[in-house]
Amino acid sequence: MIRNQNFVDGKWAASRSGKRFETVNPATEEVIADVPRGDASDIDAAVRAADAAMKGEWSKLAPAERGRLIFKLARAIEAHSEELARLETADNGKPLRDALGDMEGVVSTLEFNAGAADKLQGDTIALPKQYVDFTWLEPLGVTGHIIPWNFPLGMATRSIAPALTAGCTVVLKPAEQTPLTALRFAELAQEVGLPDGVLNVVTGFGPESGAALVEHPLVRGITFTGSVETGKLIMRAAAATIKPVVLELGGKNALIVFPDADLNKALDDVMEGIFHNCGQVCSAISRLVLHRDIHDEFVECLRARVSKLTVGPGMSNPDIGPLVSEEQYTRVHNYLALGKENGARVVLGGGRPKEFEKGYFVEPTIFDRVSPDARIAQEEIFGPVVAAMTFETEDEAVAIANGVPYGLSSGVHTQNITRALRLARRLQTGSVWINEWYIGGVQAPTGGYKESGFGRERGLAGIMNYVQVKNVGIRI
Ligand code: ADP
Ligand code: MG
Repeated sequence: MIRNQNFVDGKWAASRSGKRFETVNPATEEVIADVPRGDASDIDAAVRAADAAMKGEWSKLAPAERGRLIFKLARAIEAHSEELARLETADNGKPLRDALGDMEGVVSTLEFNAGAADKLQGDTIALPKQYVDFTWLEPLGVTGHIIPWNFPLGMATRSIAPALTAGCTVVLKPAEQTPLTALRFAELAQEVGLPDGVLNVVTGFGPESGAALVEHPLVRGITFTGSVETGKLIMRAAAATIKPVVLELGGKNALIVFPDADLNKALDDVMEGIFHNCGQVCSAISRLVLHRDIHDEFVECLRARVSKLTVGPGMSNPDIGPLVSEEQYTRVHNYLALGKENGARVVLGGGRPKEFEKGYFVEPTIFDRVSPDARIAQEEIFGPVVAAMTFETEDEAVAIANGVPYGLSSGVHTQNITRALRLARRLQTGSVWINEWYIGGVQAPTGGYKESGFGRERGLAGIMNYVQVKNVGIRI
């Protein structure tokens, strides 16, 4: 059951203004639920609850006990994964199979962080003998989490789990397009015994509830995943109260394929890398940088594979579901028009599939002969659209890959290990993947260079976002 209210201090509450907003099933454009339209007063109540919880029962738990609670939450998510996946598919549009995959990721994320709760240790510092000097890792305090809609519960737990592990308390503002699984998650957290106020969820719009969370003086850190534009606003607003921010802001990621690559494996990666989640992934392969000698063969094989993809409502488990919202639909279709105007060759797709009257569907699309500086090769489209281009020399491939304002991830397919590592050194991205895309998962840190943001999430690095290092010096 889902209550469709805000979750503040362990209680379900309407927004103080009484206002609500609707969330839509992107496959049918039908309203599936309405939720509170939270504003600054709701955020204030949530933050105060989280601040009080920082001083209550939660702060007295041993780290291992905190870890145990997070493990229990992992078991609860696992037990409800089918239900959560259905909710995610209804709200976000993604194929049910993928939503189930997301829930496995949520469970792993909770487990990884739960296991780390009693392994966070400070250092002893080598000062002269008349001193003892050491560090404590203290929780940062109340943390604000502003989450996008592409992996609603996945992105939420990616930052909530390490925050809880570190002993912080949380105010979560899910994306307005996909608020439902966060509310169910909160309910399950309460059922496993997370103390009141430790996790609070306020639904609402970015400029209202999101901005209020960033501005609130009792919030001691913000984690944000979303657009560069909003990231800049958040960073600027956080300056007023000197809040640290962790920003993951998308990408325009290149896969470079050399002639000695295992081309079938590279093709598998492209299929997963740009068409999974309807291309709505920050680390998607949105640029395909192909060596001239294999370009024609590669693009033809890709065309053959992509032409077999099925598009449809997420509940019927197609390869590709709809885009999340009307706004995204318009945005992606505008880029399709732009690609054609810029003279790129449309190998496949480029429009709306004919068979649907309703729903935010888009055809999987391959653009070829794209100029590296064309807008469709420079800007994040966030849809199932790949832009192919060619190179001759290694230097040229690196220049193309690095020649965008983003720096989230990149990949290289080659059997030449020396070349692979040389490129890994030169590529300006937070992740470099050799001979397989999306290597990593919960243990490996992820984050951006350049305008893709800063700070690292996942892994042990992800927990460090939520600790404060206190140094204690003693003269003996
Ligand atoms: P998109 O435009 O693709 O929806 P955004 O980066 O705007 O991506 O949104 C990601 C998250 O940021 C959402 O939860 C949204 O509500 C929130 N958000 C949007 N604008 C602001 C803002 N000015 N301050 C804080 N949060 C915001
Ligand atoms: Mg926006």
